[in-house]
Parts: sequence; structure tokens; C-alpha cells
Amino acid sequence: MDKRFTIFTYGCQMNRYDTETITGYLNQEGYESCDDPARSDLILLNTCSIRDKSEQKVFSQLGRLRKLKRSNPDLKIGVCGCFATREGEGIARKQPDVDLIFGTQNIDKLPELLKGLEGGPTYDVDPLEPEFANLAPIRRNDGLSAYVSIARGCDNFCAFCVVPHTRGPEWSKPSGLIVEEIEAAVGEGFREINLLGQNVNSYGKKVPGELTFGGLLRRLDRIDGLERIRFMTSHPQDCDKDMISAMADCEKVCEHLHLPVQSGSDEVLRRMERGYTVDEYLSKVDLFREQIPDGVLTSDVIIGFPGETDEDFEGTLRVLKKSRYDNIYMFKYSPRPGTKAQSMADQVPEEVKAERFNAVQELQREISGKLHRGLEGGVVEVMVEGPVARKASEDANCGGSGGKLVQISVVSPKFAGRSRGNHRVNFYVEGGNPRPGDVVEVKVLRGALHGLEGISPPGAVVMEEWAT
Ligand code: SF4
Repeated sequence: MDKRFTIFTYGCQMNRYDTETITGYLNQEGYESCDDPARSDLILLNTCSIRDKSEQKVFSQLGRLRKLKRSNPDLKIGVCGCFATREGEGIARKQPDVDLIFGTQNIDKLPELLKGLEGGPTYDVDPLEPEFANLAPIRRNDGLSAYVSIARGCDNFCAFCVVPHTRGPEWSKPSGLIVEEIEAAVGEGFREINLLGQNVNSYGKKVPGELTFGGLLRRLDRIDGLERIRFMTSHPQDCDKDMISAMADCEKVCEHLHLPVQSGSDEVLRRMERGYTVDEYLSKVDLFREQIPDGVLTSDVIIGFPGETDEDFEGTLRVLKKSRYDNIYMFKYSPRPGTKAQSMADQVPEEVKAERFNAVQELQREISGKLHRGLEGGVVEVMVEGPVARKASEDANCGGSGGKLVQISVVSPKFAGRSRGNHRVNFYVEGGNPRPGDVVEVKVLRGALHGLEGISPPGAVVMEEWAT
């Protein structure tokens, strides 16, 4: 390889997966990954469009890269991802130093685009129907968990969301290719896979003869050497018995469901065009709780959607109490260009959003703390990531009941990992140290706000209990 590239990734897991695919293509074309932009021949910004801040970051970064271009006129600067798809050549008009622009649906054309770049600036954001003929040459980041995209795009057009505008309509990757990709990842040493899609549980619905999402989970559960299966994100309207019973039946599928509710008001959900009512949503939560009693539920909540009244907001607090989420991602609504909600009347003032945000945060902290403390004394299965870095160890001691583990029967390093319910677990070990990827049982000694602390094996003797 005689050329170097640096890629900056903004936003979600889907973008991280795209970065791994882009890296695979660049390696194939003779580019070697490089952490130092000053030594690179090509610098790519894989952008996000979900929030306004992500776009501001892109322009700040482009501003900084101008200096590099001045000292190295051969340097090529590229912008890809959702923001590139939406703005296209508009980015180059604002920042003429940009040489390459391509959209989320043009990644598979990268070899061709690189050839074009030799002749001058190259822009391609025209939506392209994915071929899915072969596996893309993906170059995964090191780790235990591999991202695997099972579908692209979204057909839902929720009123607040840019994704259907930037990632196009939904396309399901053929299940045979997904199996092939996961088997390859397992062969590289990955123990866990994280299935990605804007709406994973509508998988296969548009493709005659294709597996349903539940069917796909059952098929992937049979892959040898794979330890755990996770997925993100599920849409409540497509969450059904087929999917939940597959979660309950499949040994490798982790008992964690991320089910974004967004609002606890029927009127707000209607204006968001989410396609379900509060009662319908809660019936899915009940189904999950019935079938997977120890399951962990998380969600997304948008605060201050246009027209949200105090009463609507009270509905959101009620849903939080009923659903008992382990954790939620909270967002203050911000208008995104090109979406229906952008021009809606009755935008909620920022100070009201801030007040409601604090109320949600406070309630959720109470719920999360209670749920995590409820796990104390129990045993969780943890996939080991490795020894705890000092900072992470300190983090694990924050925000809980104020307790502090003072001494255990052996002086041992602390390890970190994830439970099947996706809790961060820091734990002491008695006996031999586990290796990354090992699955161990941990007795939970403390449930903190952001994770659990414990000891492995569960029968190890704790000499002193919590000092509070
Ligand atoms: S389901 Fe709604 S929120 Fe999710 S990606 Fe599609 S349009 Fe956006």
C-alpha cells in the first residue's frame, strides 16, 4: 500500500459500520489507514445529520483541514455520510477545498469514485439501489462485538427524522449474505454481533420469500462459535409475537430490547407519524415482560416536540413509570431541515424543553437506580472485555447508592464486561484472570446508576461489605 487515509466518523453505529466498509474498500484500492491527518493523502469525514451540532462539527473540522491542504496541495479531502447525502455539492460551494463527496447509498461505488478523483473533484450523492450481490470488503475495528447491517434506509418518514431523506428507502440484505458475513466475523474472532438497521424488525417484509426478523434471529442462533446476538433499533409498530418469541427461544439472543417510545401522548405520536398509540406501545411492553420476565428494556424519548403541552408531557412521564426502562436516550427536539416537523407551528420554547428534560432525567435516574439496586445479590452472565482502565474503574463508583467496596478476599485487578442485558459490569475476580471474550458469572454486589459492580465467581468470599 503506498497511500494513506484518515477517516473521521460522526454519529451513530450505522456510520461506524459504514466507516468499516469504506475502510475495506480503501484497503482494497491500496490505501493504508493512518491516525495522523498530516501524513495522509486522503482525509474523509463520515458525517451525521441527526443533530445540528454534528453538522457544525463537520464545518469546523473542514476549516481546520484547510491549513493542511495549504501545506500539501495534493491532499484530497472527502465528505460522505448523511450530511453529504443531504447537502451534496452545497458542501463544496461552502468549502471549495472539498474534492470528494458521496452519499450513504454510494459507498459501493467508492473504487470508481477514487478513479474519478484523479481527474478532479468528484461528487456523487444520487441514490443507488443496493445490489447486495456479494459481501462488501469490510475492515472491522478490533473488539469482541461486530456490527452487521441487515437493512438500509427506512420507509417510515417520522415527522422529526432525516434518515429516510438521507439513507433512502428500506432494503433488506439477503439473509444468506448476512449469515456469510457473520460467519466471517466469527472466523476473525468476534464473539458477539450487533445487527443494525433503522428498523430491524421490519426486516424482510418487502421481499417475497425472505425470512422475517424473528426467522432471521432463529437462523443466526445456529451459527457455531457465535456467543451473543444483539440488535438495534426496533420500531414499536413492527414489534410482534414472532420477534419476541424468537428472542425468548434463542439462546444467543440477548434479553435486551431497545424500543423507542418517543412520546407518551397519543396526539404527539400522531403528529410525529409514529404509527402507534400509547396503549399499543404498552401492549408490546407487556408482551416483552410476559415472555422475557428478566429482560431489559431501553428507549428513546423526544422532549418538546412541536405542540407538546404540559399534559402531553405528563403522559411521557407516565409511560416511563409504566415501562420501567433500564435506561433511555433523551433528546430535546431540534428541527431538522427537510422534515415535516421543521415547519410545524407551536415550537416549544427552549426553557420549557430544558425544564421538561430535567424532569425526565430525574425520574429516569430514580427508575434506573432502583432497577440496578434490585439486581444486587443476583448473578449475571458477563462477557469479559478486559481489565478495567483506571478511569473506567473510577466511573463505576459514581452515582450509585454512595457505597464503596473496600476489600475482598483476594487482591485482584478489576475486570470489565457487559451483561446480557447490556449493563456495564465491573468486577473483581478470585482465582485466575479471565481473558477478553470469556463468559463468566458475576455476583452483583452493587447496582449503580450507570452499571453494576460484582465479583466472580459468585461464590467468592467478600470479606467486608459495603462501607457507606
Ligand atoms: S423509524 Fe422513524 S425515527 Fe426511525 S429511522 Fe425511520 S423515520 Fe427515522
